[in-house]
Amino acid sequence: MLKIENLHAKIADEDREILHGLDLEVRPGEVHAIMGPNGSGKSTLSYILAGKEDYEVTEGSVTLDGEDLLDLEADARAAKGVFLAFQYPVEIPGVANMTFLKAALNAQRRARGEGDISTPDFMRLVREKAAALKITQDMLKRPVNVGFSGGEKKRNEILQMAVLAPKLCILDETDSGLDIDALKVVSDGVNALRSPDRAFVVITHYQRLLDHIKPDFVHVLSKGRIVRSGGPELALELEANGYAEYVGVEAA
Ligand code: ADP
Ligand code: MG
Ligand code: MG
Repeated sequence: MLKIENLHAKIADEDREILHGLDLEVRPGEVHAIMGPNGSGKSTLSYILAGKEDYEVTEGSVTLDGEDLLDLEADARAAKGVFLAFQYPVEIPGVANMTFLKAALNAQRRARGEGDISTPDFMRLVREKAAALKITQDMLKRPVNVGFSGGEKKRNEILQMAVLAPKLCILDETDSGLDIDALKVVSDGVNALRSPDRAFVVITHYQRLLDHIKPDFVHVLSKGRIVRSGGPELALELEANGYAEYVGVEAA
């Protein structure tokens, strides 16, 4: 599904390279955790996958189902079924949450050659998903994320994910700053969305989130490369030993 090969990347205005030849392959149904010390390039990787401006790929490739992902604009990536959840969800003043969700869903449908969803069907879909996440009518009517608490923003993000039904979900450090209840919302939401045709890349510094979302594979990112890969036990080892042995480690 997702194939990253020899990815090198930097910040557009700077010379310093941040990712130095990163390789990763994610198949449908899999959950991959990417862990690593602060500053190792985790967020840079998620921004590159999201198509954020300011970041520049200098070498290597990223494909989604064989198609060049880097060639697509950010909204085209979303339409292809790539969903990114960031540490700090954006607030969109003036745009009602419902309106935003419907626009996002219809953009995705049009890109797939499908017609817009009917209003009754959309309302039914959103109500069903919102109820499961304890999202109130009020939260659906308010501007996207404006005045939402940290936990509400996270629930809203899971709602977006549930409505858009992406095939690849990338979560960057969604656990930092979350209290235990919000953490449960995120992990329960992700677990409910796990399916054989959907994959997750969960990027986190802490092992905590992985107590609730059990990954199939764990990778250690250090200095812009994946230096080690293993199963869930690798996360526990990192929790026990920290990242000390990976600081300064070059990829094998
Ligand atoms: P992580 O998410 O693993 O903590 P980041 O991808 O945020 O790592 O950062 C990787 C490296 O790139 C760090 O050395 C960081 O200081 C640098 N970096 C990230 N974003 C920027 C930016 N916008 N401008 C300059 N340096 C940056
Ligand atoms: Mg960081
Ligand atoms: Mg980060």
